[in-house]
Amino acid sequence: MLKLPVYLDNNATTPVDPEVLQAMLPYFTEHYGNAASRNHSFGWVAEEAVKQAREQLAQLINAGPGEIVFTSGATEAINLALKGGYEMYSAKGKHIITCVTEHKAVLDTCKRLEKLGAELTCLPVDREGIIDLNDLEKAIRPDTILISIMTANNETGTLQPIKDIGAIAKKHKIIFFTDATQAAGKIPVDVQDAYIDMLCVSAHKMYGPKGAGALYVRRKDPRVRLAAQMDGGGHEHGMRSGTLNVPGIVGLGKCCTISLRRMEEEANRLGALRDQLEKGLTAEKKIMVNGSRAHRLPHVTNLTFEGIPGDQLLAAINRTIAVSSGSACTSANPEPSHVLKAMQLSDDSAKSAIRFGLGRFTTREEIAYTIDKIKELMQSL
Ligand SMILES: *Cc1c(COP(=O)(O)O)cnc(C)c1O
Repeated sequence: MLKLPVYLDNNATTPVDPEVLQAMLPYFTEHYGNAASRNHSFGWVAEEAVKQAREQLAQLINAGPGEIVFTSGATEAINLALKGGYEMYSAKGKHIITCVTEHKAVLDTCKRLEKLGAELTCLPVDREGIIDLNDLEKAIRPDTILISIMTANNETGTLQPIKDIGAIAKKHKIIFFTDATQAAGKIPVDVQDAYIDMLCVSAHKMYGPKGAGALYVRRKDPRVRLAAQMDGGGHEHGMRSGTLNVPGIVGLGKCCTISLRRMEEEANRLGALRDQLEKGLTAEKKIMVNGSRAHRLPHVTNLTFEGIPGDQLLAAINRTIAVSSGSACTSANPEPSHVLKAMQLSDDSAKSAIRFGLGRFTTREEIAYTIDKIKELMQSL
């Protein structure tokens, strides 16, 4: 029996995998020590668990365990990377390059830095949502200190050419930060291969708990230094003070191990289901795919329902299928998506767009139901 509503908003957040929950539970109860307590076994047990999670995350992105800074999530990691990087390197230069389709956590942090004296270049994207590498090369100045371009977009799943961007940043000796919140655990992400200097992840986007995330900070070639944005006990190499969220960190580590194990099989399965959904719906006239079909995450599709007001459509669909019009963080805001607008969609087309995010627990039956239900709704709207 199909259980309603069907959840297809896995880009907003994912359910916690039962295996992840099981790994976390003992750290709420018997192993409640503070990972910074050096004098007794409660502390040692917690510290050991954090150490293991650090290794698990490092393995997922091909980093070293000493390069991981645990945070409360991707937003905090982004703030630390950009504000901490700017504070550390602004004597060298004040120019930051980012892109119009970034998540608000990046864009708003950059705007804050602009108020503090940073100069910002926001690269445009083409109709598929991808930056032009020539634009990037041209935007680079002698005083450019940071490039911040996401790995995968949260609204469309579109992938940026991270490896090429990393190579360009490396050539010009500019620090490269990538928001990999949507990509990590879903597709291979390798900080060595793509010359990534800083990268953020969030547990709740990869079948882990909310309130846990991390920033990877490269330690050699080059050694990236950051000014702490949270002062206190000097945890996390002094970059992020505050008692560690041990259960959350254990959960994040477990997510990484499971993702590594299941990545290929899951990408294949969800890619096939996504394609089936897309094929079923785009058979209807007036339903179009937004973003790159060649370069995108396997489990996401963003569709415009031409001529149908998005709010009406969403309200109708949401009775039985949980989807959203794009970023959860901005869905309270009736403005059309800044991502779709940047891809040159009209206001109307952008307002009629819906994101479908499949996930580990999405079934074939749910996709079949979704296709039928939306076709039925299209008749009545
Ligand atoms: C969800 C998301 C964030 C914010 O992550 P939190 O852990 O919820 O703070 C940042 N960037 C992207 C691309 C996201 O999808």
